[in-house]
Amino acid sequence: MRTNSDVVIIGGGLAGLAGAFHLSQKGLTVTLIEKSAYPRHKVCGEYVSNEILPYLNWLDIDISKLQPATISKFEFSTHKGKTASAHLPLGGFGISRYQLDNFLYQKAVEKGCIVIKEMATDVSFDNDLFTISTTNQVVSAKIVLGAFGKRSNIDQVLSRDFFIKKSPWLAVKAHYYGKFPNDLVALHNFKGGYCGVSKVENDIINICYLANYATFKQYKNIEEYQFNVLHQNQHLKTIFENSTLLFDKPLTISQISFDKKQPVENHILMIGDTAGLIHPLCGNGMAMAIHSAKIASELVLDYDAGKIISREELEKNYTQQWKKHFGKRLLIGRLLARILRNKSITNTLISITVALPGLLPFIIKQTHGKPIAIN
Ligand SMILES: Cc1cc2nc3c(=O)[nH]c(=O)nc-3n(C[C@H](O)[C@H](O)[C@H](O)COP(=O)(O)OP(=O)(O)OC[C@H]3O[C@@H](n4cnc5c(N)ncnc54)[C@H](O)[C@@H]3O)c2cc1C
Repeated sequence: MRTNSDVVIIGGGLAGLAGAFHLSQKGLTVTLIEKSAYPRHKVCGEYVSNEILPYLNWLDIDISKLQPATISKFEFSTHKGKTASAHLPLGGFGISRYQLDNFLYQKAVEKGCIVIKEMATDVSFDNDLFTISTTNQVVSAKIVLGAFGKRSNIDQVLSRDFFIKKSPWLAVKAHYYGKFPNDLVALHNFKGGYCGVSKVENDIINICYLANYATFKQYKNIEEYQFNVLHQNQHLKTIFENSTLLFDKPLTISQISFDKKQPVENHILMIGDTAGLIHPLCGNGMAMAIHSAKIASELVLDYDAGKIISREELEKNYTQQWKKHFGKRLLIGRLLARILRNKSITNTLISITVALPGLLPFIIKQTHGKPIAIN
């Protein structure tokens, strides 16, 4: 079967779904290709920065219906449990990806977006037209948005540089019941990684950590690793000992790469993690995914309306805007991650942030954007 669309979006995570909703709402025909079913849990810290709220309001997407946790405070601790805390300059909310992705998926379908629930296996560009193959279908489109996340078979199809390099990072996430403040997002360090803890809807605690594979593989299983390594930080020990796991077992992903990627490749406009993954310690990847979908959607609409006259101009504009909004944040994220790997610098940093209470909010601001402007 062959289908034609104005736009094909490969990947239906936050970036793909936000783009699908935006473009469908504005009257373009959109086909979204997503290999997994909705709803499903995803490895993610599930803390969303409020910077995206003006955009979601503009799209008429009311997140409050999902009853997210309202988060306004941040706490940070070193391996040894020494803490610094701050008020989050913009604040945010906690919502599970199980609820959020499914909510956006339903909204996009309501707007007329066609969803192919299959894996995209190939994408090529010829004669100003894309041809995208899935397991059982072929779709063509003038525009393709690449929203296939951190790592996908499509990265391999496109021979993207980062794909062949091994990454030392893996991540683990699960939901728990237990005691934890509703309004707090905590980032607790441990040897070889860091762990985010915050509430989502229904009083559920999300615990999600990034760990160095070399440290992780020394232990028989996740429980043993958590007990021997994460529990070295007293804060994590207390949280784990007072919480009940709600999943059969935690979810894991590996090969998480923070390498630089290009926002446009093979004429595909890359959005969300496909264009670049910010270190999770910044707690900002979801907002960036949605924001990049907004930028790409607006430019695609201008291209469709003839306001942008060539594909070259479209790609150049997108690259410029992507770099302007996200380039510095990704750089600071990488820098912070490097600092946190050094125990003594982290300890000194904590002492300084305790002595200078304005410093932590300042650092947070550097990794977060301003509330998204709506024209
Ligand atoms: C450990 C960890 C913790 C994090 N914590 C936070 C946090 O607290 N706050 C925050 O804001 N960000 C956080 N992030 C970042 C955040 O999860 C991502 O930035 C966000 O999910 C990006 O959304 P996306 O749409 O780009 O990608 P994704 O949500 O990963 O979506 C990509 C989609 O593409 C689909 N796909 C891939 N290949 C194909 C294919 N060939 N065919 C069809 N479908 C395909 C996948 O199934 C997936 O649904 C964290 C990241 C990690 C690793």
